[in-house]
Amino acid sequence: MDPRRRIPRTDALLARPRVAAAAEALGAGVVKGLVRAVQDRARSGEIAPEAVEAELLTALDARRPASLTPVINATGVIVHTNLGRASLSEAARAAVAEASGYTDLEFDLATGKRGRRGTGVRAALLEACPEAEDALVVNNGAAALLLAVTALAGRAADTRFSAQTPRATPPYGSPAPRSHGSPSPRSEPSEVLLSRGEFVEIGAGFRLSDLMESAGARLREVGTTNRTHVDDYARALSPATGCVLKVHTSNFRVEGFTAEADLAELSALAHAHGVPLVVDLGSGLLEPEAVLPGEPDAATALAAGADLVIASGDKLLGGPQAGILLGRAEVVAALGRHPLARALRADKLALAALEATVTAGEAPVTRALRADPELLRERTLALARELAAAVPAAPQQSSIVVPHDGRVGGGGGTGVPLPGWALALPEAVAGPLRTGTPAVVGRMHEGRCLIDLRCVPESQDGELLRALIAALDATGSAGGLR
Ligand SMILES: *Cc1c(COP(=O)(O)O)cnc(C)c1O
Repeated sequence: MDPRRRIPRTDALLARPRVAAAAEALGAGVVKGLVRAVQDRARSGEIAPEAVEAELLTALDARRPASLTPVINATGVIVHTNLGRASLSEAARAAVAEASGYTDLEFDLATGKRGRRGTGVRAALLEACPEAEDALVVNNGAAALLLAVTALAGRAADTRFSAQTPRATPPYGSPAPRSHGSPSPRSEPSEVLLSRGEFVEIGAGFRLSDLMESAGARLREVGTTNRTHVDDYARALSPATGCVLKVHTSNFRVEGFTAEADLAELSALAHAHGVPLVVDLGSGLLEPEAVLPGEPDAATALAAGADLVIASGDKLLGGPQAGILLGRAEVVAALGRHPLARALRADKLALAALEATVTAGEAPVTRALRADPELLRERTLALARELAAAVPAAPQQSSIVVPHDGRVGGGGGTGVPLPGWALALPEAVAGPLRTGTPAVVGRMHEGRCLIDLRCVPESQDGELLRALIAALDATGSAGGLR
């Protein structure tokens, strides 16, 4: 008899309880596709007909509802954009799960009436950053910047904003020369003042300047690449100025003969001209962080007089992708009213995760940032010891544990080393580690694959050990550990 006739039929396979359960979770189409693929492998003789069912179950187990594969980040880079930036806290994960169904996102359960979106996250942000009068959350940092620039200096700058905030009266302070308290005809503010040292490309070819120009704002370059003074801004201010923007150089450093404007002086200058000062922090720190003394934070910028600060949710804040706008009430309100705000708004999952991140204790990003080097060393040594015990011909565990500096990665702390340790393995294990389950991504450096535990939760040490053993076995590299 043709062995292919022994291949289990599709309906028989689909009727198996585990297969049927998988069809519920993954969708019938996906499961049928996997059934067909396994049957094809049997038809071609790649596997025996008797192995079809077991192979199918293995394929179903490996199959996730979406194609994103969880990764153990062993690079030592905390905010790794290629690896999805921040790993969410348990609280944030639980919040996402809870928000996944119907929720009272824009509904007041007490009155049965329509409610305001994002009130919970707004309250959490204002509690975490009392220097801010109001907060607004949008899709990401770039969206926050786009919204701010569009509303304050774009093609359709929000004239209601200027009307409601007479530029001759407080809170901007000293009298503004140009509005004389009336919203009467004036040239539309359309310029953004930005230091030449702060034209930032944030990655993958995206330039903040292009983004702002796409909003119809004109960028007025101020100062020089290495030095920009408050006087430079003073000379550039004109009735066409929509806002003064300060952008954190979050992914590069200018060293040597450098100077930048002091925020307090710059805000005083901007306010004297009735113009808001916007600070794009990128990093997302709400308060100063002892580990990164040079990193700007929202509270300090607002205390220095910034009217609006912009930050990402998934950088040093350690939350979901989001753009956070914090600042003076009228400025934030003007942004919230702008038509673009509707197109850039954050979804319920991000709002839930962000609120939980801000409310709960240390997020994984913060824990990784503050990780104690001595504890990292102990964990790394323990991992090396267990690896040596599990893999024959493994060398002295201590010889493969090396000092290794972790990094903040995206959105801040450029060039700041975070002292720690790594396991130095042969380069050849990197491939099997990446394609194994769980996938492990280490740092390739000088012909070695470095495994840094900084961003690996301790609860995953066992899983990581098994992945390392499997990868070493797969490459026959055990003898090359030294
Ligand atoms: C990262 C960053 C942005 C963009 O934020 P996303 O959340 O990635 O959109 C904007 N400005 C600065 C200074 C940044 O560091």
